[in-house]
Amino acid sequence: MFAHPAKHSLSPVMHNAALELLGLEAQYEARDVIPEALKSALEQLVISGAWGCNLSIPHKEAALTQMHHLSPQAQAIGAVNTVLVKNGFFEGHNTDADGFMRSLEEAGVRVGQTSVVVLGAGGAARAVVYGLKHAGAEVLIWNRSFPRAESLAQEFQARAIETSELPASIQNAAGLVNTTSVGLENPDDSPIADDWLPQDWVCDIVYRPLETRLLRVAKAAKRRTIDGLGMLVYQGANAFELWTGQSPDIKVMRQAAMAVLEKL
Ligand code: NAP
Repeated sequence: MFAHPAKHSLSPVMHNAALELLGLEAQYEARDVIPEALKSALEQLVISGAWGCNLSIPHKEAALTQMHHLSPQAQAIGAVNTVLVKNGFFEGHNTDADGFMRSLEEAGVRVGQTSVVVLGAGGAARAVVYGLKHAGAEVLIWNRSFPRAESLAQEFQARAIETSELPASIQNAAGLVNTTSVGLENPDDSPIADDWLPQDWVCDIVYRPLETRLLRVAKAAKRRTIDGLGMLVYQGANAFELWTGQSPDIKVMRQAAMAVLEKL
């Protein structure tokens, strides 16, 4: 995986646990790659005979122009999180949207044509909005800076909402997804007021801590809750399948990531 910074990534422990279980002689490493070094780091993959890599902040968008081929999802989302090296050429994929949708399915959420409010309009929101729209949902996007919500909504045929519309939009929706970084490393922060809850389910893709304030409040109010570990594990599993052609053990990947999170 190439990221900057890379030291807090949970991906190496997840992937190495899955590789070991399948007896595959390969290793997954996180490398700190600054933006100027992305091109040469990708070239090095070919030279070393690697199957591919994951890309994280800040490389996902910048890598688009480095790929020889883009999957339809990577093209539509406008970001590459998984690179597959094929005969010396780079195939760019995006497994974040499917990873997010698989985490909802695992929790028994059927999005269908329901209404879902997405908080945030950054990089992760692009994959989340793409996944929800593909499943048929009506998506309402709120962001701290409204113009960013507007431009994301326009790109994905969703609707941008102002802060004044947010409480009623959430209360009328079936689901709510937090893609802002509010709650990250601070379990007492929430992006919204505690009593703004949707009718059925709440997902927070932040996974440090696993139970954010938003999820804690939603659980106490008897909503179904989905934490961010599912998205992380499933986007990784989808990438693993692209590189190896084999299905990893989801439980083993999740346990490996949990073991690290529990020590934090
Ligand atoms: P990003 O591109 O930097 O976007 C950050 C978003 O958070 C923007 O919408 C930003 O709003 C908003 N935000 C930041 N501080 C805020 C505040 N104080 N109040 C309200 N909104 C605020 O980051 P990203 O890549 O989308 O990641 C966002 C979060 O998702 C991170 O916590 C990351 O760890 C998590 N994530 C999880 C997974 C997973 O697999 N579970 C995958 C990817 C990301 P503005 O536009 O107004 O700045």
